[in-house]
Amino acid sequence: MTSCLQLQNCRALRLAWPPPGANPRPLYPLALPPLPAAGPGPHPLRGYSGGSAWLPGALLRTDSFVGGRWLPAAAGTFPVQDPASGAQLGRVADCGAAEARGAVNAAHQAFCSWKGVSAKERSSLLRKWYDLMIKNKDDLAKIITAENGKPLKEAQGEILYSAFFLEWFSEEARRIYGDIIHTPAKDRRGLVLKQPVGVAAIITPWNFPSAMITRKVGAALAAGCTVVVKPAEDTPFSALALGELANQAGIPAGVYNVVPCSREKAKEVGEALCTDPLVSKISFTGSTATGKILLHYAADSVKRVSMELGGHAPFIVFDSANVDQAVAGALASKYRNSGQVEKQVNDAVSKGATIVTGGKRHSFGKNFFEPTLLSNVTSKMLCSQEETFGPLAPVIKFDTEEEALAIANAMNVGLAGYFYSQDPAQIWRVAEQLEVGMVGVNEGLLSTVECPFGGVKQSGLGREGSKYGIDEYLELKYVCYGGL
Ligand code: ADP
Repeated sequence: MTSCLQLQNCRALRLAWPPPGANPRPLYPLALPPLPAAGPGPHPLRGYSGGSAWLPGALLRTDSFVGGRWLPAAAGTFPVQDPASGAQLGRVADCGAAEARGAVNAAHQAFCSWKGVSAKERSSLLRKWYDLMIKNKDDLAKIITAENGKPLKEAQGEILYSAFFLEWFSEEARRIYGDIIHTPAKDRRGLVLKQPVGVAAIITPWNFPSAMITRKVGAALAAGCTVVVKPAEDTPFSALALGELANQAGIPAGVYNVVPCSREKAKEVGEALCTDPLVSKISFTGSTATGKILLHYAADSVKRVSMELGGHAPFIVFDSANVDQAVAGALASKYRNSGQVEKQVNDAVSKGATIVTGGKRHSFGKNFFEPTLLSNVTSKMLCSQEETFGPLAPVIKFDTEEEALAIANAMNVGLAGYFYSQDPAQIWRVAEQLEVGMVGVNEGLLSTVECPFGGVKQSGLGREGSKYGIDEYLELKYVCYGGL
């Protein structure tokens, strides 16, 4: 049977982990951490007591991080909760436009010296930051699990993946080359220099609170830029913990700044960051709707932008596919991370879809959802149109390759696409014709620091990771060298 699984959890994209030598690829439900010997809380299964006591105090920062200092916000604090239990994890500085502008000023001041730091020195500072992430990986993973709600094993995987971006960009920092061009004039040469764009405003989502930051910040710092990070309101602790480690690594004050804020303040902080004349670059991961708002800001002051927006990843299984491989790939890529699904399931069922398995809240508690498979899905259903964050796989049947491609390419987004086939000619055709930025052929996990991550259509602009990711933070300058 041929089938097309519409896998919409694209911003919750597949991480290429664990690294070699680590445990095999986790499936959902994941192996859970051992139960604590004692301890209250509604979800003992998670090995988590439902409060900040479980969290590593040394890395649990609650102030903003600006110019190398921990600063409170004038408006006070906002609460951050554990999404699994609802327990309050802490209160964090609720920054506004004034604090955002202060952070931009600090970043700009730091840029004036950071851009002159040798590539080798920038490289070694990023490497120290990476080493500290690895040293503190278990504590960092606990922070992610607490603030984001994903299983601890997923969080541990994210921390490694996240740290690998710092490692990768510490290496790439030394490989920013220019060009020499022979012009028609004998007495002239064209030189192309690569220079950092300046201060980058970085706005990140909740689903990969650490990896989204290092993927952007690693490239920015390697290029010689400085950054102001506005983390998602639900997950500020990862960004702040990275600030603590940046300090310990000796990253100069003002090079990495973090301005956390509540959902209520997100708009004013976003606007302050993205309209400030001292900011030269906006890098955003989040919803397409927010991305469009930020693009308007960028247009007004002609800033460089990178946008990683929503996706709707098709997962196509052709007749010739190795079905066991396809099932393993679908499980590995689909039923992971975390999310809040239910409305789409109800909508699909009301329009004729059949629940093959799952479909309701899990007995673990009201904030958990069962892994769910829907059949008889049509393109009219919300789950075929909206991005899904959660363990939901709707299945659409198709008859021909053209039909499968038509379904997949009908989306106005195009981040990743996956297909399973053993037919070499079909593999070539479909890989070329899928309208996405990343294609998995007989593989459900494709993200790795060495390869370019990004989408086409309304899934975004630019690429992250890989040797290309650093270009997003560099300007080309042509120097015409005459009089030879
Ligand atoms: P998600 O669905 O992942 O929460 P959002 O686009 O709403 O996607 O959020 C991603 C990031 O964008 C978060 O850090 C959020 O605070 C920020 N954000 C949301 N709305 C705005 C806005 N109007 N201006 C700037 N940032 C925003």
